[in-house]
Amino acid sequence: MVFRRRLMKWYRANARVLPWRGITDPYRTWVSEIMLQQTRVAAVIDYYNEFLRRFPTLVSLALAEEEDVLAAWSGLGYYNRARLLHKSAQFIVEELQGYLPPSAAELLTLPGIGEYTAAAIASIAFGESVAVVDGNVERVILRLSGRASETTAAARAQLRAQAQALMPKSTAKHWPQNQANARRGTKAKKSSVPMENAAGDHNQAMMELGATICLVRAPLCRECPVRDLCLTRGEHVTPARAPQRSLPLACLLDLRKRGPATEVLLELRPADAAVMPAMYELPSLPIESVGTLEPALRLRHSITNTNYYVQVYSLRRHTSATRSNYTLAAAKRLHKALSSDSRELKWTRTASLASLPLTGLARKILQRLQIMDAARLLSPQESD
Ligand code: SF4
Repeated sequence: MVFRRRLMKWYRANARVLPWRGITDPYRTWVSEIMLQQTRVAAVIDYYNEFLRRFPTLVSLALAEEEDVLAAWSGLGYYNRARLLHKSAQFIVEELQGYLPPSAAELLTLPGIGEYTAAAIASIAFGESVAVVDGNVERVILRLSGRASETTAAARAQLRAQAQALMPKSTAKHWPQNQANARRGTKAKKSSVPMENAAGDHNQAMMELGATICLVRAPLCRECPVRDLCLTRGEHVTPARAPQRSLPLACLLDLRKRGPATEVLLELRPADAAVMPAMYELPSLPIESVGTLEPALRLRHSITNTNYYVQVYSLRRHTSATRSNYTLAAAKRLHKALSSDSRELKWTRTASLASLPLTGLARKILQRLQIMDAARLLSPQESD
């Protein structure tokens, strides 16, 4: 109880203001939790706002085309999350009368929702007393209890039990049904939306403590509200950084004029590709095909533990932002490299790029070269 009281006092005074906090719409909580999987808070905020502008309700998401959902997700990465969110919305509308299930056990049955996300939605949106154990919470509990990180099933079960033991009992006070519906604009089961929510607030406070105070490398123990209750107080073993890989990548920027419109050549990734299936990207080139040609753009693009050093080769001079100084022979070589395997290539008007499901890298290149409006959203993978 002492732990909870101190934690909540600190949280109320220090919680970051985020667009998915203080809301009463389970659909919005769900969208935020899916976006936050493996993605930094700062990177999610703009995408969250834009996504909900495009799909303000669960029904509007269910009725959308997958390509439009992916376009709204473009640049956020881990695109399977968007596909599964969309599929789940359709399932909820078709099979569950449009009601998002209110318990972690039921939420777990939906595509794309694992144990962590189910607990987060059930506690934050519906007040269920079920502990969320993400990387932040895990770190806080291990340091509080002075235990070393272990990956065994028994160790993980013990962690979950400890997190659950810290949880307040479910004391959610619910909005009257009509008020809840009016506030949410989407369907809610009777008395399902909490007005006061100790369980949801506790989970968010634990995650906030890990994200802002009990940091991975240099925890701010002096500012920690539960310092007196912590067995390590910063005397922890710093986890080793995952090794980084560096890979070179070359791709082609090919532009052409068609009347007043400018078109760019894009490649559609196969629908069964292991990563980013059915997304559009700039056609890749074998590194050996570019020889000593000078690229129009060099950039670094980081995805998890890999740094891609990308070189963009521009074949034609169509806008002031691109250049092609290549000889005819070099241009032919690039064209040949492009047609050497079976690819699905498509000329696309640059004016319609924003509505396409582009990979984060393609979006970044097109924005850098001012072929696409950069004002819309920046990729969370921007790290160079
Ligand atoms: S005292 Fe330090 S190590 Fe312990 S929980 Fe607080 S921030 Fe983490």
